[in-house]
Amino acid sequence: MAVLVYIENTDNKLKKSALETVSYAKAVAEMLNTNLVALSIGNVASAELESLGKYGVSKVLNTNNEKLKSFINQAYASVIAQAAKQENADVVILSNSFAGKGLTPRIAIKLNAGIADGAVDLPDTTGGKFVVKKTAFSNKAYAYVELESSNKIISLTPNSYKIVEKPESVTVEDFSAAIKDSDLKTIIKEIVRATNKVSLPDAEIVVSAGRGLKGPENWGMVEELANLLGAATACSKPVSDAGWRPHSEHVGQTGLAISPNLYIAIGISGAIQHLAGVSSSKVIVVINKDPEAPFFKVADYGIVGDAFEIVPKIIEEVKSLKA
Ligand code: FAD
Repeated sequence: MAVLVYIENTDNKLKKSALETVSYAKAVAEMLNTNLVALSIGNVASAELESLGKYGVSKVLNTNNEKLKSFINQAYASVIAQAAKQENADVVILSNSFAGKGLTPRIAIKLNAGIADGAVDLPDTTGGKFVVKKTAFSNKAYAYVELESSNKIISLTPNSYKIVEKPESVTVEDFSAAIKDSDLKTIIKEIVRATNKVSLPDAEIVVSAGRGLKGPENWGMVEELANLLGAATACSKPVSDAGWRPHSEHVGQTGLAISPNLYIAIGISGAIQHLAGVSSSKVIVVINKDPEAPFFKVADYGIVGDAFEIVPKIIEEVKSLKA
């Protein structure tokens, strides 16, 4: 018996969510009194894989196969399931990222496993049960799901678990999984980066703006603040519908669901459909000239005033702090 954690990388560097997922998986392994095995797919440097020992991993399986250079749902799910079988892992943990959302059900089918997707806390194993708290209804509620199957898959909501160091001696082993042609039906030929900006789903800080900014020509201050804070930019649906910002920035019920440590909402009313995608952010700061704007009800910090006066002042303040 073991716990297997799948760790994601971007451009062969481990993502921050990988360390969160490893820390969470280590805590689960400790609860179940078993070892933690990590699986990496890609060309991550062995020193970086070895560094996972710091977070409680005792073995890292490393699959570095030319056919898996780009992310392919079916093939990655197959490799993860094979690793779980080899390690007798009855609990598989991964991030509820873009990739994780596609992988989780595919792995579950291969392992005949129950799923808790979007977990936000450690399982409760009282009385021999295995109950996981997870987000539901676009983050508007929590659900407690009991996994009764012997194999279990948990995908962890990004930014919902702290990175914890738990030093362990670690080995890194090559893992050469069988890859069927039928798993390689979709081949990514080339990835062209549209931007070098911070990726929105992974961002720790997000600066977001809505229709209150009046037009696309006013996004300079949003981008400047985001650059200064090392943040990603986001927007409300009407803003992307109007073509002021790309659809990839649209957050909410019909857009991306994000959970950064800090979400700054500028000129956004806080409609329920918008909140559905951002309400699990750790700290929410709202800037709106209408003191009755619904967003203030869920804000940790609210600033009532004109964004065109307030945002430049915040920018100057951040600049002076950095100087
Ligand atoms: P508005 O509602 O127009 O609000 C603009 C805000 O800016 C106001 O609160 C105003 O007081 C403030 N403001 C104006 N000028 C200034 C200023 N100078 N300084 C400071 N503040 C100012 N919306 C989403 O965002 N995401 C979704 O995924 C989504 N999905 C939807 C799905 C469905 C099925 C439906 C029906 C709607 C959905 N919507 C979604 C739309 C949602 O209901 C709201 O209409 C939308 O979120 C409003 O966007 P907004 O806050 O930018 O604009």
